[in-house]
Parts: sequence; C-alpha cells; structure tokens
Amino acid sequence: SEPVLEIKNLSVDYGMGPDAVQAVRDVSLTLHRGEVLGLAGESGSGKSTLAYGMTRLLPPPGVVSGGEVVYHPQDGAPVDILGLNRPQLRKLRWSEISIVFQGAMNSLNPVHKVVTQLCDVIKAHDKRSTPASRRARAAELMKLVGINTDRLDSYPHQLSGGMRQRVMIAMALALEPSVVIMDEPTTALDVVMQRQILTQLAELRERLGFAVLFITHDLSLLVELSDRIAIMYGGRIVEEANARQLYREPLHPYSLGLLKSFPALRGERRELTGIPGSPPDLRAMPSGCAFHPRCPRAFEPCADRDPVLAAPEDKTRSVACWLHVPGAGRTAENSTSST
Ligand code: ATP
Ligand code: SF4
Ligand code: MG
Repeated sequence: SEPVLEIKNLSVDYGMGPDAVQAVRDVSLTLHRGEVLGLAGESGSGKSTLAYGMTRLLPPPGVVSGGEVVYHPQDGAPVDILGLNRPQLRKLRWSEISIVFQGAMNSLNPVHKVVTQLCDVIKAHDKRSTPASRRARAAELMKLVGINTDRLDSYPHQLSGGMRQRVMIAMALALEPSVVIMDEPTTALDVVMQRQILTQLAELRERLGFAVLFITHDLSLLVELSDRIAIMYGGRIVEEANARQLYREPLHPYSLGLLKSFPALRGERRELTGIPGSPPDLRAMPSGCAFHPRCPRAFEPCADRDPVLAAPEDKTRSVACWLHVPGAGRTAENSTSST
C-alpha cells in the first residue's frame, strides 16, 4: 500500500559540538496508509527520540541533525515536516498526525473535566463547531474508545489509569488523523489493560483507517497486534519485517534476544533468557556492529565493520547483520589464513 509517512535518513543529536551524542542514527522507516507499525527496542535505544524528532516535538538539547520526514496527505502534495513553520506544524498536529506520549494519561489537566479537554481539541481546529456539536462529538469519541458517556463530566482523577489512557486516545482520534503515534502508552498499566487498549486501537484502526506507529519495548504485544515490526538498537533500525516473519524467524540476533525477553502471548513458547549485558553508551559506541559486545553470534567482521540495513534474498524485510551478508566473514578468514 502507499506510504503515509516516510522517514528518510533521520539523525537526532542531543547537544551540539564535541559534547553531542547521536541518539538516532540515519534511520529510514516508512509507515503505510492504514497499517500498524510496531517499533521495539530496549530502554534508551532511541524510540522516543525518533518519535519526537520526526514530529518536531524534540525538547532541547535535542536537534535533528539530518534527514527528511515526508507526510503524504490523503489529497494534495507531500509535506516536508522538518521544513514547516510553527503555525503549519500546529495545523498538521491532531488533524493529520497525532501523538500519544509516554505516560500521556498523566498529562490530562487535573482541573478540567474530560469533556472540556476533548472539546478544546475539537474547537482549536474547527472554529465553526458549536458547544453542542462539540459535546456530541466528545460523547461519540468516548463511546468509540469504550468509555460510558456518563464519564464525560468526570475529572481525570475520577477515572482509572486505563480510562485516562483511553481518553488520550479519544483525543488523538478527535480530528480523524491519518497517523497516530503511540509512544509506549501502556507502561503504567497492567498487562490485562495493555492488551485491552491495544486490541481496541487495532479495531478502531480497521474501522477508521488511520495508520499507527506503536512504540513499546514489549515485543510480544507487537507480534500479536501489528502488521510490521521495526527493531531499534543503539539509535539504529537493525531489523524490519512483517510481524509474523519477525516472530517465526528473527534474522538479527538482537531481535531474537528481545523475543526471548518477553513471554509469548500465544503459540510456541521460547525459553525466556533475556539479553546479557546492557545497551551501548552513546558517548562510547562500540566499533563495528554496535551489538557485537553482547552478540552470541559475533564473528570476524563484527567488531570492525558496521553492517548496513539491507534486504536479504527476499525483498519484504531487511536486517543489519553480517550473518546475512553472503561471504561477510571471508575477507577476514582469508587474511588470517594467509598469515
Ligand atoms: P525508553 O524505552 O526508556 O522510553 P527510548 O528508546 O525511548 O527508551 P530515548 O528516550 O529516545 O530512548 O533515549 C535515547 C537515548 O538518548 C538514550 O541514551 C538517552 O540517554 C538519550 N537522551 C534522551 N534524552 C536526552 C537528553 N535530553 N539529553 C541527552 N541525552 C538524552
Ligand atoms: Fe551479531 Fe555480528 Fe550480526 Fe552484529 S553483525 S548482530 S555482532 S552477528
Ligand atoms: Mg521512550
């Protein structure tokens, strides 16, 4: 299907000059219309930085140091998001691309009723709406996310964490955007609630047709509820595949490690082993493949040369790992044997 959001060679740094660290390194990722794309990786891998960078919500000292982000509206010319000015950006947000932040449920304003906050979003983008039409729309949105409309006049503290999170989703959907970005919206919720919310989002997506970029470190949820999955490590995408492929046959040793870090929701059970060691320090990135100090399969080229993200034989997926580059170890082997 056609792309709705294209990230091209995006890099994001924190700080400038010699003290700068690169938290997102040359990331290219395409979100297609109507799909759920999952982005997974350990804490610190750069998932939020990518989400904030691509939507221009990066807090200082974060700066986008390279790349392009192209939004394709339903009709009209493609939009270069990184080139928009503030008013243009404001117009795009909520109505075309909306974002539910990490811990967003705590970002509801405690002193305003839920209905007021929903209506504010609608009002800001639809000046011709009336108080009555906004309230009706707010009620519709609450129903959409499975909250009884008698909760409209509740204050955030009167709702459970799960309900507050659903209110945030309702807000994100208020203006029928084409893209919804969810940055780990479920960390604070229990597993049962996580599943309910993700299932609901997937269902809403079927009905409303928006695309979702879903960011989490829990790969098992993505395996079940997304179409495609991208795996991030040390600021890079190291593997991208459809969800089933990635689950059945992860190509990158890090992807396999992640799969082994969470209990599978269904299907074949893998032994839970986790990944030994810890994510790389951005100020001292390992040479070669950033994963090599932790990789159980590291071999000759890994410590010296950084593998690029490329398609193995079949073009439907990509991986950045020397194991999947035919003949990758040969040069090193040859040089060893000739000495
Ligand atoms: P999590 O799963 O914990 O949310 P994440 O994948 O979203 O992790 P980011 O928050 O994007 O990771 O962080 C990526 C890297 O950037 C980390 O190494 C982090 O320490 C670094 N980083 C994040 N914010 C800043 C900042 N304001 N200044 C400097 N470094 C930062
Ligand atoms: Fe492991 Fe080497 Fe592949 Fe990196 S390139 S994941 S170190 S085998
Ligand atoms: Mg994050």
